Amino acid sequence: MSRVVIVGAGIVGTMHAVLARRAGWHVTHIDADLEPRSASVRNFGLVWVSGRAPGDELQVALRARELWSEIAVDAPGVGLRADGSMLVVQQPEELAVLEQVMARDDADARGFELLDPDSVRRINPAVAGELLAGLHCTTDAVVEPRMALPALRGWLEESADDTGRDYAFHGGRIAVEIGPGYVVDHTGERHRGEVVIACPGAERHGPIAELMEGAPVRRVQLQMLQTAPPGVPLTTSIADGDSLRYYPAFAVDALATLPPQAPVAAEHHMQLLISQRGNGELTVGDTHAYDEPFDFAASEDAYEHLHERAASILGRPLPPVVRRWTGVYSQALDGAICHRRQVQLGVWVVTGPGGRGMTLSPAIAEQTISEIGSPL
Ligand SMILES: Cc1cc2nc3c(=O)[nH]c(=O)nc-3n(C[C@H](O)[C@H](O)[C@H](O)COP(=O)(O)OP(=O)(O)OC[C@H]3O[C@@H](n4cnc5c(N)ncnc54)[C@H](O)[C@@H]3O)c2cc1C
Repeated sequence: MSRVVIVGAGIVGTMHAVLARRAGWHVTHIDADLEPRSASVRNFGLVWVSGRAPGDELQVALRARELWSEIAVDAPGVGLRADGSMLVVQQPEELAVLEQVMARDDADARGFELLDPDSVRRINPAVAGELLAGLHCTTDAVVEPRMALPALRGWLEESADDTGRDYAFHGGRIAVEIGPGYVVDHTGERHRGEVVIACPGAERHGPIAELMEGAPVRRVQLQMLQTAPPGVPLTTSIADGDSLRYYPAFAVDALATLPPQAPVAAEHHMQLLISQRGNGELTVGDTHAYDEPFDFAASEDAYEHLHERAASILGRPLPPVVRRWTGVYSQALDGAICHRRQVQLGVWVVTGPGGRGMTLSPAIAEQTISEIGSPL
């Protein structure tokens, strides 16, 4: 049976392992970290169909959403909750954007409904602050970023035979050489396969630098925080009006009429997103820094702004912060869903889904596995 060697066990590499196994490939899977620690465990866990651009990107997102539902049946530990989202607007110009979005013919496919404040509160009573309206998106969902990768690997391991031939994960192995039919890790072990797929995220060291030479991608750094449980369930994830500026789904004419963002939000390219973890804690973000080298310190003024925005929507202060972190993702700049290239014969690199990798990874992996063809 043919084997694929996958470098990188973030969500993109792990979904490639899942879809490759479904297609009948044997999989050898390696990651530099004993347990991956990069963008895929640092995100909100949002499976975010609402923000995707009309057309191809929306179709890929809807397919990814379907695949997440299927995969969550096999690996329930990913913690998929089909809770939907509520984009809360507080200014008339933001409401005008939502009205134009509702008039587009893809509003139904996304599961959009534009709701008045009472209807918003009926669906999500945690939205107890000021609002003019809310865009409810029933196709959005959330998974547990800290649990999803081990849950998927656990399922791959359980469904493999005892010899480790079907699926074997090697954590703590840095790929130091990658070529047609092989990957050498830093211990000197050579992993052979007919196909190699490198899913390095935003990493650029060693052989990855060569595979990514000239690739149209940039790296983006974000700041995040997590609070103690608020004591009330968030029945949907929450976004604020600033999120209209970041998601291509909202690129309608009325977007140009939005008043300027608060200076701190403009400086850090901010929006407010809140998702609730299975244990009740709230994941809150985010900022976007595009210029490298990134500051290694997180900015407190950005965190203060997130607290203010969240309090104005929830109608109460955020609970105490229990964790803060930054994360870096890789983003394709050429309008593609991701950066996917066959860089040498049978050697593929797949990265760059940007801030939508947790959402789109199953569909991205499905496309790659279809492009590499069937195992012999
Ligand atoms: C703060 C933040 C919030 C986000 N929120 C969301 C969200 O809510 N929804 C959404 O859809 N997307 C979100 N994203 C984007 C999403 O997290 C990323 O697109 C996705 O995680 C990228 O996955 P990846 O597997 O490509 O990269 P990564 O998760 O970075 O994984 C890459 C892996 O490759 C390994 N690797 C690299 N080089 C080597 C080597 N030489 N040898 C061995 N291993 C190697 C690394 O150790 C790493 O584990 C967010 C991103 C961030 C940073």
